[in-house]
Amino acid sequence: MNIYPIQTGTVAIKSKQRIGQGQGLMRQVNLLFDHSWTEFLPIYAWVIEHSEGVVVVDTGETARTAQPDYFPKWHPYYRFAVRMNVLPEHEIGPQLRSLGIKPQDVKKVILTHFHTDHAGGLSHFPSSEILVSEQDYRIARTISGRMSGYLPQHWPSWFTPTGIRFEQASLGPFKNSYRVTTQGDVIVVPTPGHTAAHVSVIVRDDDCYFFLAGDTSYTEQALIERQVDGVSPNAKVARQTIDNILEFAENQRLVYLPSHDPQSTMRLEKRQTLSAG
Ligand SMILES: [Zn+2]
Repeated sequence: MNIYPIQTGTVAIKSKQRIGQGQGLMRQVNLLFDHSWTEFLPIYAWVIEHSEGVVVVDTGETARTAQPDYFPKWHPYYRFAVRMNVLPEHEIGPQLRSLGIKPQDVKKVILTHFHTDHAGGLSHFPSSEILVSEQDYRIARTISGRMSGYLPQHWPSWFTPTGIRFEQASLGPFKNSYRVTTQGDVIVVPTPGHTAAHVSVIVRDDDCYFFLAGDTSYTEQALIERQVDGVSPNAKVARQTIDNILEFAENQRLVYLPSHDPQSTMRLEKRQTLSAG
């Protein structure tokens, strides 16, 4: 089994999105009025070459974000709080081809959540089964979903994902899980926080676990410091997920790979585990 990172461009966000400040809704207000930006951060998706078929985790961002009408103009977050830098060659389709993988040969795609920088590359996978959190999928299509920044208008017309049905099969502190492979070495676990029904993917290879974290935290450091980001709808829920990951890492060799951590690829390459870090 091999895991490869695919960087689909970069994104800059407000510092108070990376690490939230204040209570409740004020956290989102604070990030909108924050004058301090992060550096441009990578937008990672992941490819798992598995004997049962290729699995892709998240689809990254699309170059169409550079078009002037791509983001809704009425939306304060897109107007004031995010900057994308994605070229057509950064998209996941061409990058898979350069790894020698045809997108149509990807058996399954798993979305950690529906934010645009994770769902932006969906159009490259018309023939793959796409696994998503049912709850996130439902929320993303509501008015309040659009207010929180989901862009269902950009999903492909053929998009009919499979909802993940978690089973009562625990994996460390995660009480429920969903097997993606029959071998049980690629597993989805619920990691609510950054979005209400965010999920993460755990890949087991020999004695090592790779935690494809999506946005459970923006960096490993933020995880270790138990810092909740500025967009999580419920900070308490997000912190419980952080604690679950930290507990899991206490008992396993765990390589933690968030989608926007510039150190993620180095950790993947060196198999640098959380405790060793
Ligand atoms: Zn996100």
